[in-house]
Amino acid sequence: MHRYLDCNATYPQLKESLEAMTEAAMAAPGNPSSLHWAGRAARRIVDDARDRLAAFVGTEAGSIVYTSGGTEANNIAIHSVLSTSKPGRIITTAIEHPAVLKPLESFVAGHPEWELVKVRPDVTGVVSVESLKAVINDETRLLCLMYANNESGALQQVEEVAAICREKTVPMLVDAVQMLGKKPLRFNDLGIDFMSLSAHKIGGPKGIGALLVRRGVKLSELTPGGGQERGRRSGTENVPGIAGFSAALGKVDFSGCEAVRDLFESELQKRMPRAEVVAATAPRTANTSLVILPGLDGETLLMQLDLAGFAVASGSACSSGKREPSHVLLAMGASELKARSSLRVSFGPDNGSDDAIALVEALVTADQRLKKMAGMAA
Ligand code: PLP
Repeated sequence: MHRYLDCNATYPQLKESLEAMTEAAMAAPGNPSSLHWAGRAARRIVDDARDRLAAFVGTEAGSIVYTSGGTEANNIAIHSVLSTSKPGRIITTAIEHPAVLKPLESFVAGHPEWELVKVRPDVTGVVSVESLKAVINDETRLLCLMYANNESGALQQVEEVAAICREKTVPMLVDAVQMLGKKPLRFNDLGIDFMSLSAHKIGGPKGIGALLVRRGVKLSELTPGGGQERGRRSGTENVPGIAGFSAALGKVDFSGCEAVRDLFESELQKRMPRAEVVAATAPRTANTSLVILPGLDGETLLMQLDLAGFAVASGSACSSGKREPSHVLLAMGASELKARSSLRVSFGPDNGSDDAIALVEALVTADQRLKKMAGMAA
């Protein structure tokens, strides 16, 4: 039996999203920039989708720049600010997704006159407002803070930090990829410059997302070309992707996952008392559980669970395949050994208590098997 428990990596595409994509491709065959009927039909689909997304995230249609996903949205915002500012300080956190950390690190590596400050979270996985505030100086050109951590689910204090950035006129980018669909987003109310979104975390297609840009903020293009997206991101619009993204908005309700997630954690700790739940005391997204299973290697466990039909992640899903310890756990102060013993389970509304119980059972079985194997090897 297959059980999918990796919704933070991607949420399986919804049927209505897939249907909207087919409909967009069939009924609107033209290029949205073409002036004829076929182009106008495609343009209408993009315009309607943009209006829906704007209403969903509390902004206006003109603020939305469609991108190929969260990674590109983050990269465009970062590139735009850094390529147009005087050298100075960039502030971010040590628990950001690589889609923020990598572009910042590579920019600073090529521009030594810039300084990158990565603020660490406390032991609960939350970066305190005070620690971010303490490093903002007059030379701060950009602050990047994620809304919800993809590994631990820990919610960051975006509203409070946004208020400080507004007061100090520091441009702020919020990576909201793991927050979309989990809590209401009100982009305009935050008063920040940028927010990045991705469709495939909410049942939309992979390869489409958006960057929200505050009205009046000029965006410099990463890929100049035909001037689409009001000259902010050239390239023919991904019309089926945009339609599929729109159709997925508001369809997946993660709030009910909390009961299943909590059941998983309590059963796990009953059956395997040495298991630790990461960010247990922090406000978290309802569907996410990051656990440390001391003595077990996350990657090995993942393969054992895969054989038993479970799809889960060890550490960050986007970097799974790499044998590196979770940078999020390291930043929270975990040892390298512990950071390699983590397992991320991210539930969706289709998961029930049977999935939680079956996973605990499979973990206990894998633990016993791996212990036996280690005993035989010794
Ligand atoms: N930011 C966060 C917090 C994520 O979790 C992810 C994907 O896992 C991304 C950015 C990248 O988004 P995309 O896969 O759409 O490029």
